[in-house]
Amino acid sequence: MTDADARAPVVPDADGLDATEREEAIRRARSLAGLRRAAASCRACDLWARATQTVFGEGSESARLMLLGEQPGDQEDRQGAPFVGPAGRILNEALDAAGIDRSLVYVTNVVKHFKWRRAPRGKRRIHQRPDRAEEEACRPWLEAEVARIGPELIICLGATAAQALLGRSFRVTRQRGQALPTELGPPALATIHPSAVLRAPDDAAREAAFDGLVADLRTAVRSLD
Ligand code: SF4
Repeated sequence: MTDADARAPVVPDADGLDATEREEAIRRARSLAGLRRAAASCRACDLWARATQTVFGEGSESARLMLLGEQPGDQEDRQGAPFVGPAGRILNEALDAAGIDRSLVYVTNVVKHFKWRRAPRGKRRIHQRPDRAEEEACRPWLEAEVARIGPELIICLGATAAQALLGRSFRVTRQRGQALPTELGPPALATIHPSAVLRAPDDAAREAAFDGLVADLRTAVRSLD
């Protein structure tokens, strides 16, 4: 596939749920599993067409903490689960270091399909940040997850998640680690995305980024007490 092919407009599949049908599906879903099944055929924006599958949230249905990332990455798209790739490994290490059992939290993303472009050379799929319209299109799934699980706190991993919940002027660099009110119900606290640890330019920066992530996770846990 060429770059031009990769950006070609999509032809929606008539078998999926458009935005109106999606609303009805959410209303009818009686469980988190029902929501997940419905989300598998969501066609409410164009992102489904170039992704392998919907990557819905996973984790405890009685989680007090919800972790919210931006969107699935390459590995998540292939495996159908959130935070299972390299950033997921960093997240697991940080959760361990903060004394948080991942099986007791719920992990999801603002956008449930992988948005990507082809690398100029080779077959690598490069992450592309979802735009505002795509975030808005996917919002009903996040609202449904929050309503179903009822977390006491949402931890936003990175700027996209933080701005989706805390407003476009929110800056992780200035306001991380503070629990702030959201329109979804539970407050949210922002920290860096685990992929920022991977992108750090050297070992010292990587260690500092990781320590900052762990410190914010610890702050989040303390706020539940
Ligand atoms: S990104 Fe969200 S709204 Fe768009 S098709 Fe996927 S699940 Fe539906």
